[in-house]
Amino acid sequence: MHKFLLTALAVGLASAGLSANAAAAQTFEGTATGKHGDITVAVTFDKDKIADIRIVKEEENPVLTQKVYKDLREAIIAGNSVAVDSISGATLSSDALKAAVKAAADKAGVTLAATPLIVAKREVKIPEKDGYDVIVIGAGGAGFAAAVSAHDAGAKVVMLEKMPTLGGNSLISGAEYAAANNWVQQKLGIKDSVEQHFQDTMKGGDMLGDPAVVRVLVENALPTALWLRDTIGVEFQEDNLFHFGGHSVKRSLIPKGATGAEFINKFVKATTERKIPIFTETRVTELVRDKDGRVTGVKAVIDGKTHQVNAKKGVIIATGGFSANVELRAKLNPFYGAGFKTTNLPCAQGDGIFMAEKIGAASVNMEQIQTYPMCDPISGAIELIDDARFEGAILINQEGQRFVEELERRDVMSKAILEQTGKYCYALFNQAVEDRAHAIEHHQDEVRVFSKTGILKTGKTLDEVAAAFDIPADALKATVARVNEFAKTGKDLDFGYRGKFSDLSEGPYWIYRGVPSVHHTMGGLKINPKAQVLDKNDKPIPGLWAAGEVTGCTHGSNRLGSNAYTDIMVFGRIAGTEAAK
Ligand code: ADP
Repeated sequence: MHKFLLTALAVGLASAGLSANAAAAQTFEGTATGKHGDITVAVTFDKDKIADIRIVKEEENPVLTQKVYKDLREAIIAGNSVAVDSISGATLSSDALKAAVKAAADKAGVTLAATPLIVAKREVKIPEKDGYDVIVIGAGGAGFAAAVSAHDAGAKVVMLEKMPTLGGNSLISGAEYAAANNWVQQKLGIKDSVEQHFQDTMKGGDMLGDPAVVRVLVENALPTALWLRDTIGVEFQEDNLFHFGGHSVKRSLIPKGATGAEFINKFVKATTERKIPIFTETRVTELVRDKDGRVTGVKAVIDGKTHQVNAKKGVIIATGGFSANVELRAKLNPFYGAGFKTTNLPCAQGDGIFMAEKIGAASVNMEQIQTYPMCDPISGAIELIDDARFEGAILINQEGQRFVEELERRDVMSKAILEQTGKYCYALFNQAVEDRAHAIEHHQDEVRVFSKTGILKTGKTLDEVAAAFDIPADALKATVARVNEFAKTGKDLDFGYRGKFSDLSEGPYWIYRGVPSVHHTMGGLKINPKAQVLDKNDKPIPGLWAAGEVTGCTHGSNRLGSNAYTDIMVFGRIAGTEAAK
């Protein structure tokens, strides 16, 4: 039902003697589903023109939607049209805003312009040409860690980001962080060692990681976690850890809210406090060198024009991976071509690798591409409710049978899922699992969206959840009965689940469908333990550092869950500190 409001404007016009029908500005509500839930808008129409859009209700990511609710909203009003470009990186929220405005217009009987008349012009900001010591390319997790570290080591820093939004894929990640001997492990009495973390990482990547770089990763994991907690103010859950596949013990810290928003929000605060300038919609296209081959700056495109920005000390590449570059994926590893969606934002194109290779940088492990096993079959986005799998959710196929260990490596699980009927599977869990995992509690937004799109169902009994997805109930009950036995004995005789199963005999149950989606590109620039970019002779390229998913030395053939955040933070911090020297 729409709301009908007579605004002050209408009252004014009516009292001026105009007919109420022709003059009244009317407000209608419209709703559409975004990434995290419904967006409801109240659109005021003055005759057949949008006079105002008010956001009534929304649950989108506040960092990603800043420009959606400002620039996009203004463009829709100015153009009296929803045929306006979405804010890149916030497409789902943008599309929902446009659809909600369209729904309101339909109710009002207003036809919007098919092409925008005027598109709001953003204010173009150009960085200074000189005056910076360090340039950081990319404002994702690695970029933020590098920028703050370089600043705190005394450098004048600037961040250049091609998207209108901040945070890159680090923002939308689950953002767990692996660190051996961390304070939560100590509270929970979990014995671990840096050496064990080293072994797990090397083995998990089939020994293709660079041992010297991996050594630095694991040794700095805890000191960097403490820096994040104590200097940046990142809050972690104090009473639980995750046990990701391939780690021999539970060692992954969980940020508050179990997403990267906790990190990025705190980093935005840290860079604001330090007055570190960040230029968005500033796409770096080229590295600039002096006659001795030292990297001294970059060229960046802003509003179609190329500008040079110089750096007295150096440039840090923190541009992320290339999961969203289907063509490059297909070229490097044809299996991971167009048949897969991606969990990444469209920014993950491999720009940093291309620009560094152009000046002679070496890259490694480029064909190593990782899928995340449980993703939204509709959008390709990661299913963060899949956190339940670490606390005893079971994976079953359309026939109601388990087929793989739920804590296996991501590549093994993804491959196994693709071998099942329909190339998808389901995860099933009950309240006992939820009490430990808090997956539903933390990801209510997903619960709402997935329930609406039909990939998540709930039920009081196994018969109900089986019927919801047309799974044979008898087979499902037999599978659950067997898991209940394993929960009792603590030993999974079928697939060797290395976590702790819960008894699944009591509902309520949740069941969701998932498919593998391209999630991480392990390959990238070759760096040394000081995060310097190496050339083809393994010599550091002067003035050039790299950190995060753009590098290729840490994860080998397969990245262990929660090692990415450790990688981007540890090497972001090292790159920043080294470049500032
Ligand atoms: P990481 O996890 O390594 O930090 P993210 O994906 O989180 O990687 O962040 C990488 C960031 O770099 C993204 O915000 C992305 O838009 C940005 N980026 C990628 N290419 C460029 C480029 N050519 N110029 C500026 N920024 C870029």
